[in-house]
Amino acid sequence: MAFLFGTTLFNPVEWLDALKLALPGMEFRVWPDRIGRQEDIEYLLLQNSIKFDYAACPNLKAIFTFGAGVDHVLKNPALPKHVPIVRMPAEGMVRNMTHYVLYGVLHFHRNFHVFQAAQRQAKWSDLRESTPAARAVGVLGLGELGGDAVRALADQGFKTLGWSRRPRTIPGVRTFAGPESLDAMLAETDILVGLLPLTPETTGLINARALAKLRRGAFVINAGRGPQIVDTDLIAALDSGHIAGAMLDVFVTEPLPADHPYWRHPKVVVTPHIASWNNVGSAAEHVAVNVRRIQASERPHPVVDRAAGY
Ligand code: NAP
Repeated sequence: MAFLFGTTLFNPVEWLDALKLALPGMEFRVWPDRIGRQEDIEYLLLQNSIKFDYAACPNLKAIFTFGAGVDHVLKNPALPKHVPIVRMPAEGMVRNMTHYVLYGVLHFHRNFHVFQAAQRQAKWSDLRESTPAARAVGVLGLGELGGDAVRALADQGFKTLGWSRRPRTIPGVRTFAGPESLDAMLAETDILVGLLPLTPETTGLINARALAKLRRGAFVINAGRGPQIVDTDLIAALDSGHIAGAMLDVFVTEPLPADHPYWRHPKVVVTPHIASWNNVGSAAEHVAVNVRRIQASERPHPVVDRAAGY
């Protein structure tokens, strides 16, 4: 029985130490150099973007991923159908994401984008914002991350709207469900926050048509996945003034290429996919609990719904 650890992004020593502590007796191997006999590998903790050769590991019992997004894992055609993909716990990740969203919303709501531009020209621009109740924030995705972010925004007094695939009830939030209700939410939104998983339905969702539905002078914050935005459409909407600013954490190509227009666009704030991350200790404990469940012939929890794509 062996556990394969595969990442180029995260500090392997920190994660391996935490996993060894949580799973004493387990043999750990590290991708790509120390894989060993692949038939021994039963568990996999894999960075989403790694193209893994599943065919060489016939005895795999579960796949764990570092983050909340599983789009790359699901895209691999060799992914065995019977092996569950176990979602990571949200502890730490939820709080970090909510902070990112609050920062982005407040950045635009409190006119920091205006003050930053004015400072570059030594201009005293004593613009005052409207009250939060007069600003509608629409959150796309009401799962672990979007659900917490929208509640935090409502607590701060913003008018809050939220969109999901299936109907959801969140106190203080006006919720919308399904593609037919999206336009209605967009039409009332001043600040759009994207916290959706990447699926065929959400790819290219924030396009010229959707952006045109937003109120004039609206802002866009996206921390879901890059391909959910059609970049040329967003840049055109920013240049026309219909969209007043954007804060983007995720991109079609990461790292964002040096010549990408987002880097130098005066209305765009770029952050390098840092909106949220997991707490290593609680993530390792979650992996261990699920390995023990599987060893006891119980079902791991929570697992990715492959049909829904997230
Ligand atoms: P989650 O708990 O699975 O929630 C996903 C939400 O999106 C749910 O509310 C779901 O609707 C909704 N949704 C999915 N497909 C939809 C569709 N076609 N139409 C309308 N709503 C749809 O996921 P999460 O843990 O909140 O994470 C969301 C995403 O954030 C991840 O998949 C990942 O891409 C991204 N992320 C980014 C970072 C970062 O650092 N930037 C970090 C972590 C995660 P239902 O409620 O009906 O299921």
